[in-house]
Amino acid sequence: MSRPIQALIHTEALRHNLARARQSSPDARVWAVVKANAYGHGIERVYDGLRGADGFALLDLSEAERVRALGWRGPILLLEGVFEQRDLELCSRLDLWHVVHCSEQIDMLAVHKTHAPHRVFLKLNSGMNRLGFKPDAFRAAWTRLNALPQVDEISLMTHFSDADGPIGVARQLAAFNTATQDLPGERSLSNSAAILRHMGPQAAAQLRSDWIRPGVVLYGASPDYPEHSAADWGLLPVMTLRSRIVGIQQLQAGDSVGYGSTFIAPQPMRIGVVACGYADGYLRASPGTVAQGTPVLVDGVRTRTVGRVSMDLLTVDLTPAPTAGMGAEVTLWGQAGNGAVLSIDEVARAGGSIGYELMCALAARVPATQA
Ligand SMILES: *Cc1c(COP(=O)(O)O)cnc(C)c1O
Repeated sequence: MSRPIQALIHTEALRHNLARARQSSPDARVWAVVKANAYGHGIERVYDGLRGADGFALLDLSEAERVRALGWRGPILLLEGVFEQRDLELCSRLDLWHVVHCSEQIDMLAVHKTHAPHRVFLKLNSGMNRLGFKPDAFRAAWTRLNALPQVDEISLMTHFSDADGPIGVARQLAAFNTATQDLPGERSLSNSAAILRHMGPQAAAQLRSDWIRPGVVLYGASPDYPEHSAADWGLLPVMTLRSRIVGIQQLQAGDSVGYGSTFIAPQPMRIGVVACGYADGYLRASPGTVAQGTPVLVDGVRTRTVGRVSMDLLTVDLTPAPTAGMGAEVTLWGQAGNGAVLSIDEVARAGGSIGYELMCALAARVPATQA
């Protein structure tokens, strides 16, 4: 028998979360963001659940090829545009739309030979200061692009740095509106946090755009945990990481567990050894102390990790699950067999991270299946 760890990717949850994103903005078209191998879920495994989107947005040309290989004929957007001249040839061949965020990318387009002109998304740096043209350079970039025979329609986009927190989007939105005033073309503004927090019934008019760009919400995690949980937002978890108990230890008071003996049993207790470790993508930083372990479900019952996470194994307190024995089901995050849910955001936070990072870090050695 193979090692019992597995990831389940729930197709119905993807459909539900996509519908939830659409609800925020019924007139907008939806880019399903599937960069980083669909946030660790696997592009091929999410395609069924997300094919109801209007397009797929990603970074890597190889991922764009995979989406085309699945039979997708609709729009694909390269969120960072091209990295070198020859990437444009693949854009022409695969009919990819691409972001233009710097003058070097315009230079490349200007010498590109293509039969069909490219649809581009011109990116404004509205304050995040990662990619994009500054407001005072935006119009000149647009004019230059617009004069190129290689360029078809120009859409306008920006990316918010603070849609998930107290700073919000007002300043960046104002910068976008000023910089794009009177320019024709479709608009694309919102990531998950902007969709959920700033496109409710009151804010919808302000953030109206033609294309929204949900990422993490599609996978059922919350962009602003712990202020709101995924359940608060009506999202369903897409990734379940499950394994089994492969060893049991009966501890006496004073016995320690694992590397560094960081956990000492305060009283006699039963410990389950789980086939999951940091080489599977579980965070080594997850605490396993007496006061506060990382939450985990054993047979769907909530308990906590104890001791350090090692490469292939971690250990859990079986006190709340006295009947759980060898082979018992362990849910590291997602949905247990009995329907109980442990949110990836909560597990990530215990280890000092966020749901985004944890799902992206799922290791290639973990077999994943569509469920
Ligand atoms: C990753 C990304 C998104 C999606 O972000 P989420 O927070 O996961 O919704 C949207 N737009 C751009 C440009 C991105 O790079």
